[in-house]
Amino acid sequence: MKKLLTGFFTVIAFVLFTVKPQAQSYSPQVSAFIKVAAGSTALTDVKIIDGTGGPAKEHQVLLLQNDRIAAVGNAKEITIPAGTTIINCSGKTVIPGLVMLHEHLYYTSPLEAFFNITEMPFSFPRLYLAAGVTTMRTGGSIEPQTDLNIKRMIEEGKLTGPDMDVTAPYIERKGFDIPSLNIIKDTAEAAASVAFWSAKGCTSFKMYMHATKADLVTVLREAHQRGLKVTGHIGTITYREAAEAGIDNLEHGFMASTDFIPGKKENELPAGSRKSLADLDVNSAQMKNLMQLLINKKVAITSTLPVFEPYTGREIVHGGGLDALLPEIKEKMTNEWKEMQHKDSASIRVFNKELAWEKQFYDAGGLLVAGTDPTGAGRTIAGYSNYREIELLAEAGFTPLQAIKICTLNGSVYLGRTNEIGTIEKGKKADIVLIDGDIEKDIKNIRNTEIVFKNGVGFDSKKMFDSVKGKVGLY
Ligand SMILES: [Zn+2]
Repeated sequence: MKKLLTGFFTVIAFVLFTVKPQAQSYSPQVSAFIKVAAGSTALTDVKIIDGTGGPAKEHQVLLLQNDRIAAVGNAKEITIPAGTTIINCSGKTVIPGLVMLHEHLYYTSPLEAFFNITEMPFSFPRLYLAAGVTTMRTGGSIEPQTDLNIKRMIEEGKLTGPDMDVTAPYIERKGFDIPSLNIIKDTAEAAASVAFWSAKGCTSFKMYMHATKADLVTVLREAHQRGLKVTGHIGTITYREAAEAGIDNLEHGFMASTDFIPGKKENELPAGSRKSLADLDVNSAQMKNLMQLLINKKVAITSTLPVFEPYTGREIVHGGGLDALLPEIKEKMTNEWKEMQHKDSASIRVFNKELAWEKQFYDAGGLLVAGTDPTGAGRTIAGYSNYREIELLAEAGFTPLQAIKICTLNGSVYLGRTNEIGTIEKGKKADIVLIDGDIEKDIKNIRNTEIVFKNGVGFDSKKMFDSVKGKVGLY
């Protein structure tokens, strides 16, 4: 009898857990931003940009059930089940949740003469989600333990933010006096770092500017044998050397390339990288050769345009995030911006070349992915900068459909997660961004995010942005 009863309860439990998966619970801090609970939600009469780069479809129905996309199609094709929450989306657009690959949970906060960066553990994850980022890879870490805990707390429903892939502390040799930078002394330490941080849950590694070729070879061996990937913001190593060694990804488009510095010696980081790019013709055969090598070796390039955006004639904080800043920092940024007006013609020229090179790389068949890198001069703020990246891709000549593809599908291709995320397709995760307006008519409509669905739960974009106004730089 006892045995029978146990069997009976096992069957009951099995039925309960397979039919109705236990809903995720959320802390009050997260619940405060939930506009649409998970369950059955239909977005009707909506324009769908599906992330594949294919043409948008008007007047569609998108049915979300629990954490999945249950159906996509026109009104005649889809039966909306009873009890479904129906959101009329006439005049609105949906895109897949953004998959951004060069994000950080830290922000530049200058310290006297030093370049200093400070972790933003509460405002930044929330701002990313507010702008539609549902998956992100951090592009290097200064507080890996904080990043890993935030990732876990988001998964547990305790904090508001995207799903995260955490990159380990930078693999870097002595060179910069940046207080938060991790420094290794030899390749043995590089190998130990990969072993340690991969065991802790980091899924990506990043070579930095003074790392040597031997460091790269070591890190590639250690990471690849664990099925993990390596990227780089390199300098001592050229793009060509990194591609030939087997690196998976290079950051900052072509702006970090030292390949074109005349007389550059192996394992040396000379000055003059920006000048060498300024001197290079935008259609140079040398650059085309490098791009072809990267394509042949399947090296993805991460576009991080907001961190390079010049001062003159552009916003103080890219994407409209000036009011997100702590008042003292807002004042500082405004003053620096005023000071720099009409003084950065050289950086405008290189920036325009970078726009062209990213388009050339994509058009030649390269895997262009995107991120924002909220560091630099302090004018790049999580969330707002994600809008700006999409706008800048459009400025580079990509169609809005291509710009969205770069920031969605391409990110999932790199992460090896196309079965789950990156496009709007039946069966994929219900990670969806609802935008008021049409980004094909005006790319700036990307800033009108209304609801960001992550795992089928709809978060109120404006409420998330408003909740940390004036706080960036503080937490
Ligand atoms: Zn970065």
